[in-house]
Amino acid sequence: MNDSFKIQLDEKQMPSAWYNILPELPTPLAPPLHPATGRPVTPDDLKPIFPDAIIAQEMSQEPWIEIPGPVREIYKLWRPSPLHRARNLEKALKTPARIYYKNEGVSPPGSHKPNTAVAQAYYNKMAGVKRLATETGAGQWGSALSFACGLFGMKCTVYMVKVSYNQKPYRKILMQVWGGEVYPSPTDRTNVGRAVLAKNPDSKGSLGMAISEAVEDAATHEDTNYALGSVLNHVLLHQTVIGLETKRQLELAEDKADIVIGCVGGGSNFGGMAVPFASDNIKGKESVEIIGVEPTSCPTLTKGQFRYDFGDTAGMTPLLLMYTLGHGFEPPGIHAGGLRYHGDAPILCNLVRSGLVKARAYPQNPVFEAALLFARTEGIVPAPETSHAIRAVVDEAIKCKETGEEKCIVCCFSGHGHFDLAAYDDYMAGRLVDYEYPEEMIAEALKDLPKFPTGI
Ligand SMILES: *Cc1c(COP(=O)(O)O)cnc(C)c1O
Repeated sequence: MNDSFKIQLDEKQMPSAWYNILPELPTPLAPPLHPATGRPVTPDDLKPIFPDAIIAQEMSQEPWIEIPGPVREIYKLWRPSPLHRARNLEKALKTPARIYYKNEGVSPPGSHKPNTAVAQAYYNKMAGVKRLATETGAGQWGSALSFACGLFGMKCTVYMVKVSYNQKPYRKILMQVWGGEVYPSPTDRTNVGRAVLAKNPDSKGSLGMAISEAVEDAATHEDTNYALGSVLNHVLLHQTVIGLETKRQLELAEDKADIVIGCVGGGSNFGGMAVPFASDNIKGKESVEIIGVEPTSCPTLTKGQFRYDFGDTAGMTPLLLMYTLGHGFEPPGIHAGGLRYHGDAPILCNLVRSGLVKARAYPQNPVFEAALLFARTEGIVPAPETSHAIRAVVDEAIKCKETGEEKCIVCCFSGHGHFDLAAYDDYMAGRLVDYEYPEEMIAEALKDLPKFPTGI
C-alpha cells in the first residue's frame, strides 16, 4: 500500500472522455414529459434554451463521450484534482478504516460545479450563443458559470434569489469579478418576475422562481441560452470526471473502495463520483457500498415519493421521474443552501430505486460537528453541503472501529466553505436549529401533483 498523503495524477492521466451510464442502467430511464401535453419531450422542445450538443448528450446511448480539447485545456487549471488520504482524521477517530477524499474544492470557484459549467459554456459558444442565463441560490453555481463564460468570452446573466443576494454579498461580488451580471430575483426584467412583484413587491424570491426567470430570459432572446447546474443527465455526465479520476488514483494508491460517499442536493457531485463505481457493480465486477447523504430538512431520497414532478416551482419545466418532496415544497432555511432542492437527478433516483445506491439523512448540528473535526484534523474547511458527506464518513469510520473492519472509505469533497463562515459562526455559538422531517409540509406539497404512470 502507498503511504502518501496526497495522490496526484499528472495532466496526461486526466480522463479523455466522460462516462455515460444511460445505456447500462438496469431499468431504462423514463423520458421527461412536456409540461403542457404530458407527452415525452422531443429534442425540438429543448432547442429554444439548449444547444444541440447538450440535447444530444441528455439522451445519448454512447457509453463514452469525448471531452473536447478546449474543455480539457481549461480543466487543467485545477484538474486532475488531488485525492487525499485523511490520515489525521483517521488518527483522531482511532479507526482501522482508510479514509480518502477527492478534493473538488481546488477549482477557482471552490467546488465541483465548474466541471459542467466549462463544458456547457463551450458547447454554447460553439453553437454561436452569446449569453447564458441561469439562476443561483447561495451563489456556487452562478459563480462557476460566470467563471466559465468569462473564459469563453460570453456574457452571463445570473438571477440570484433575493434573500441570498442581500445576505451573501461575497458570492455576488465573485460573479461580478468574473464578468457576470447579477440581479436579485424576482426582477422586473421578465414577465414571471413582474407578475410576482405586482402581487408582492417585497418577495424574497425562491430558487424555483429564479429558474422560471432565467428560462424565460433564454427562451425570449435569440442569442441567449439557459444553463442548469445539477439534476440533468448531461450535468452528471460532465461530473463523471470526478469518479473516473478517483478510480485511477485509488489504483495508484494500491487500494480499492469498499464505501463511496457524497452529499446530495440535485445529485451532480455525488452522481459524478458514484456512476463509475455503480457501473462496476452493475457489471458484477465489484460490490461497492454507495451512499448519498442529504439533510433531514429536505429528505428527498429518504422520504420523497418516486413519481413525475416539475423541476421548478411554477411548473414551467418538463416533468422528471424522480424522488420528490413536491415542487411546491419549501425546505427550511438551513445553511447547506445547495442541498435545498425538492427533487434529485433522475439518474441518481433510478440507481437508488434499483438498490445500487443507498441514501441517508442528517440534521445540521451533527453535520457541523463532523465539519469542525475535519477542519481541525485535515485543515481544510468544508462547505456545509460537503459536511453532510463527512458526517457519514465519520460514522462509517466509527463503525469500523467497533467491528475492527479495515474498510476503504472514499468521499467526494464537493467544495470548501470559505464563503460559509457565518454558518460556522452560528454553529459555534449554538444558534443552529435541527429540523425534523416536516411531514405535513411534504404531504401538502405532494397533494396537487399531477399523476403520470411511472412505468416502473
Ligand atoms: C451545489 C453544491 C452541492 C449540491 O449540488 P449537487 O448537484 O448535489 O452536487 C454540494 N456541494 C457543493 C460545494 C455545492 O456547491
